[in-house]
Amino acid sequence: MEKDIYDCVGIGCGPSNLSIAAQLYGTHEVRNIFFERKSEFSWHSGMMLPDAGLQVSIFKDLVTLTEPTNRFSFISYLHQHGRLLTFLNAQFSQISRLEFAAYLKWAAHSNENINFDEDVRGIIFDGNHFAVQTSRRKVLCKHIIIGVGIEPYTPDFARPYADSETHFHVYEFAHKPRQVGGRRVVVVGGGQSGAEVVLELLRRTGMEAPCQVSWISRRDNFSPMDDSPFTNDLFTPAHSNFFYRQDTTFRKAFLKRNELASDGISEHTLRSIYQRLYTMRYIEHSPMQVSLMPSRNASDVWREGSAWTLASQHLVSNTEEKHKADILVWATGFRPAAHPFMGALGRRLEREGSEIRVDRDYAAIWAGPADRHIFVLNAARSQRGLADPNLSLMAWRAQIVINRILNRPHDPKLDADAFVYWGTLEVN
Ligand SMILES: Cc1cc2nc3c(=O)[nH]c(=O)nc-3n(C[C@H](O)[C@H](O)[C@H](O)COP(=O)(O)OP(=O)(O)OC[C@H]3O[C@@H](n4cnc5c(N)ncnc54)[C@H](O)[C@@H]3O)c2cc1C
Repeated sequence: MEKDIYDCVGIGCGPSNLSIAAQLYGTHEVRNIFFERKSEFSWHSGMMLPDAGLQVSIFKDLVTLTEPTNRFSFISYLHQHGRLLTFLNAQFSQISRLEFAAYLKWAAHSNENINFDEDVRGIIFDGNHFAVQTSRRKVLCKHIIIGVGIEPYTPDFARPYADSETHFHVYEFAHKPRQVGGRRVVVVGGGQSGAEVVLELLRRTGMEAPCQVSWISRRDNFSPMDDSPFTNDLFTPAHSNFFYRQDTTFRKAFLKRNELASDGISEHTLRSIYQRLYTMRYIEHSPMQVSLMPSRNASDVWREGSAWTLASQHLVSNTEEKHKADILVWATGFRPAAHPFMGALGRRLEREGSEIRVDRDYAAIWAGPADRHIFVLNAARSQRGLADPNLSLMAWRAQIVINRILNRPHDPKLDADAFVYWGTLEVN
């Protein structure tokens, strides 16, 4: 066991905790250490398809919204790598996800407080400190910051078969063997990740091309993500704070109504798919059979010989359909990752539905001393709103957590930057 007591230990090092690590870098006020189980930084590497783009502004990087002069900004990355001007001149309509991942990797590996290849296995609280057991050592700290992110979700009926070479979650797509040539591929899920896989398949030609691509979605159509200015105001501190103050009935209904603000498909991807279909049909006269099938709810799957049969319910006619697949890809989203390392400590945390209940500062509400905190990042969408799982408010959230650790007041001007007034007007 290390003798030193850290102010905070971060568990997991994806963008959420990386933002905190970047904003703490160089400070002597908060002794911090972060543990990441992977041997080096990677960002959703199984979904790094060549054309995938970042879905937020580059200003929503690890630090810029709260500390624009921090050395870990995306602009600083470009500058350090001698490509700021060429980046500007390239006039990208969207930033490559590959480039953003390279930026995150640079930030992670330039920060010696981040330790790779160290899996957090257990945490206990001795009444004064947390003892964090990793795969290599035990450390003591005053606060812990859980940033373990998301894990892929597949429906229950598909789970027993998932993760084979021919039946897997989209999260693994780039890691799977790429022999789809001449085979029938079914993609289930009408969000961004499903769209990216479909586009990738449609782009294949010759021996590499599947003979059939079927795309199944529960939604009425292949719907765009709403990226308009007032919708983007839902991804501001002002809205997150407003949302946090509302009751659960309102919050639940709001998230459902505004689902396409975050879960739709980028217009860029939709246009690319449409244009590719046009080219295939009228210019290349491609033999690939493509079926776009919205309004279907996948309901069962089973093996028949070496192939899969997927059953779906057509939501308009209520009839059952069957789809044959040699390769079945589930693009059915993600859920916040579980926290097995919390053990018995997990039972001391209040819950709100499936989430840990957090206070305004993302600290879990728990049966423990008021000056010891368990912060929870990217796991409070139903309490904090649409922006919680994405990059938009990550730097702001990191600043809130740091302020709480330091007992420092939050800068109110960081919360005020939005045009829409979400709350009620005061009555005189
Ligand atoms: C393919 C994809 C693209 C996305 N693109 C965008 C986008 O363009 N814009 C946007 O706003 N949002 C995007 N998101 C949503 C969101 O920004 C990302 O999911 C982001 O990675 C969340 O960061 P995180 O740190 O919370 O979690 P993660 O990135 O999931 O990181 C969690 C880390 O914790 C580690 N870990 C887990 N358990 C342990 C343990 N016990 N011990 C040590 N380490 C552990 C994991 O290995 C992982 O590295 C995207 C999501 C996906 C899946």
